[in-house]
Amino acid sequence: MTTRTTGNTTREVAEFLKSLQKGAVTTHTGADGDAIGSAIALVYLVRALGAEAVFCHSEEVPGYLEWLLPDEPLKECPVDHDLLVVDTSRSDRVGVAHEGVHPVRLNLDHHEDNPLYGEKNLVDSLAAASAQIVASLYTELGVPLERKPAEAIYTGVSTDTGGFRFRNVSPETHELVADLLRAGVIPAEIDERLNRSGTIEQLKIVGLSLANAERYGEALIATVDKDDYARTGATELDSKESIDHLRTVAGVEVVAHLREIEGGTKGSLRSERVDVGEVARTFGGGGHRLAAGYTTLKSPQEAREELLEALGGVVDLRDGSGGGAG
Ligand code: AMP
Ligand code: MN
Ligand code: MN
Repeated sequence: MTTRTTGNTTREVAEFLKSLQKGAVTTHTGADGDAIGSAIALVYLVRALGAEAVFCHSEEVPGYLEWLLPDEPLKECPVDHDLLVVDTSRSDRVGVAHEGVHPVRLNLDHHEDNPLYGEKNLVDSLAAASAQIVASLYTELGVPLERKPAEAIYTGVSTDTGGFRFRNVSPETHELVADLLRAGVIPAEIDERLNRSGTIEQLKIVGLSLANAERYGEALIATVDKDDYARTGATELDSKESIDHLRTVAGVEVVAHLREIEGGTKGSLRSERVDVGEVARTFGGGGHRLAAGYTTLKSPQEAREELLEALGGVVDLRDGSGGGAG
């Protein structure tokens, strides 16, 4: 199997999991399908090993992922539990308060910029999803995959690969999917829960994001602000769902979605070739080479100017063929 693991080995982490008595699993703030999918798959794994396991997260779990939860999430890590963190590239993005109270016992992730902030670290940047790494622990430990953890893993892998279309897909990804289907996963059913459970408000904010998109040569930037949320009745997170549609324009190398949040703007960057992780890091953010994010204190309009400046050295912003102002 192709892996590029840093930190501990799969075996070492498997041994650590066997020694656990009470595990509290959390993931990154602004959780996505891989965040919740890999976390819940790890909860089931720890339970299968005979230990106690809970999922904890200070934020609400997005509605389209709630069906994955085995029980009501805790808002905090219980005092007597060991904290296990999945899919989280940096310790300041961990979904529960932990600094000085709960050392991160395990940091399981697939972001190449993960600085190995846990006591034990299982970071494989070639894994398409953190859920794929959790699956490798099931194999290592000889724990058979039941349908529910298989659905959680499938959710992580299918969402982080854009439905098996992105460049992180490998033969191992599809071999894993074959095992997941054998464990009872029905892809059409998962797709329905993930992608056909939206609201009219969500549909409208996605539409507004797309309508707000401007082209600057090889860059495409969409902004949404509080007025847009008020007009549609949707939340800022709902608006991010538009990002894959932004990628459909020919000749565009970098797409950005800039959405107003409390006290600033959250930026999501995507590309097929350009290292947008590097761009995100110049703003104090991070992520993968081709999918990255950051937050800034600026308004969406100011954030667009700031981003255009950073992109100037990376892509050609000159050709105004798309009608952008820059
Ligand atoms: P997003 O655009 O929020 O879906 O994030 C894309 C990728 O970038 C994910 O893998 C995130 O973990 C990472 N990311 C997003 N925001 C940040 C941030 N503020 N700091 C570090 N990494 C981030
Ligand atoms: Mn994630
Ligand atoms: Mn992920």
